[in-house]
Amino acid sequence: SFDGQREFDYFKLALQWPGTYCKRTRSCCPTNGCCRGSNSPAVFTIHGLWPDYNDGSWPSCCSGSSFDPKEISTLTNALEQYWPSLSCSKPSLCHGGKGTFWAHEWEKHGTCSYPVFRNEYDYFLTVLNVYFKYNITSVLNDAGYVPSNTEKYPLGGIISAIENAFHASPQIVCSKDSIEELYLCFYKNFQPRDCALGSDIKIDMVTSKKSCPKYVSLPESVS
Ligand code: 5GP
Ligand code: 5GP
Ligand code: 5GP
Repeated sequence: SFDGQREFDYFKLALQWPGTYCKRTRSCCPTNGCCRGSNSPAVFTIHGLWPDYNDGSWPSCCSGSSFDPKEISTLTNALEQYWPSLSCSKPSLCHGGKGTFWAHEWEKHGTCSYPVFRNEYDYFLTVLNVYFKYNITSVLNDAGYVPSNTEKYPLGGIISAIENAFHASPQIVCSKDSIEELYLCFYKNFQPRDCALGSDIKIDMVTSKKSCPKYVSLPESVS
């Protein structure tokens, strides 16, 4: 136990699709360009790496340690590219006040990944490595699911492409008929696993269907 918190069971790598997030958010950030028309990256970017329990709940804000940008200064260039904040709104932090997207994710989720990560640098570096190793955007592109403002793709086909590549079932969250987030799940040793545990692996399909229609899109930009 860590600060009286039960140890988590598995990791959820949460990815976001900028073309969808930027269409929905009310606080698009013109300064970083991510939400400006064709400047939206046509790739999944990182939202966070979330420790979860098998029962569907999760711990949050697990220790008093607050985010220190200096600890990850050598990763800043990579993080700006692959873990951009698409919104200008400053998220609230665990111990009061507001901070950056990275600070929010570290304090809310990262601090609960004990004993796998013992510091901020390990956490951010591993998230980048896992994101590069399990390249969802290229798996989908290779299967013909390319960013488009007009095409719609079968949700089942998208899930199958990922299952075939990584032998694990993802979970997908939509906003209307657009994919907004995609979760890929891992054991604590970073072997892929299904996001939902159960004898029937189609549980993930059931969960994804709750928020997504049968045919979904991956919008390339905000028009
Ligand atoms: P929402 O209510 O938009 O689904 O989620 C809001 C926030 O709750 C997320 O950004 C994330 O911080 C947290 N959250 C949502 N779903 C999960 C989950 O399955 N696992 C964990 N660890 N956090 C989640
Ligand atoms: P909902 O009840 O709509 O799934 O979640 C509403 C909010 O409550 C979410 O945005 C999330 O932040 C929080 N929440 C839901 N379940 C959990 C949980 O198991 N642990 C924590 N820490 N927050 C939760
Ligand atoms: P979560 O949903 O992870 O609990 O919280 C995300 C927080 O970070 C929200 O308050 C949101 O406004 C802020 N935020 C800043 N940039 C981003 C972004 O690119 N994506 C998401 N999902 N939230 C962002």
